[in-house]
Amino acid sequence: MLKHLSALLGGAALSSTTMAAPPFPLKKTESEWRKLVSPQAYTVLFEHGTERAGTSPLNQEKRPGIYICAACHQPLFDASHKYESGTGWPSFWQHLPQALGTSTDYKLIYPRTEYHCARCGGHQGHVFNDGPMPTGKRYCNNGVALAFVPKGEALPPLRT
Ligand SMILES: [Zn+2]
Repeated sequence: MLKHLSALLGGAALSSTTMAAPPFPLKKTESEWRKLVSPQAYTVLFEHGTERAGTSPLNQEKRPGIYICAACHQPLFDASHKYESGTGWPSFWQHLPQALGTSTDYKLIYPRTEYHCARCGGHQGHVFNDGPMPTGKRYCNNGVALAFVPKGEALPPLRT
């Protein structure tokens, strides 16, 4: 996995502290983002924070619909791929195509794969290999980094 990742990155050194490095299609300054998202969401999205387990109202969300990036509004997950992981964080076994990028994070002693919105780079969560079939993946997402749009409601326009 690590080998695969460094191959993708062209052998670039993986840093323990940087957020996802590549330039993202949507780039805003800290003050611009702070006007658009809550302080809690800013901490998670742009400072790699983690919300306390069990605190997101989205844990209980069971309706069909789409989960979008709280920062730029790009659709990230379909509700049909959400499942109850018992972790206290909204969990998904699959993301929407092209929605996410990943990087390796060494904030804990062992490497973890963090993932972020491919459009704005906002950190969403970490992906683990203990999810349900068919993917076996568990996308463990901070609820505050997402917004839920129930089926039948219009998606908000992408932020630009
Ligand atoms: Zn985004």
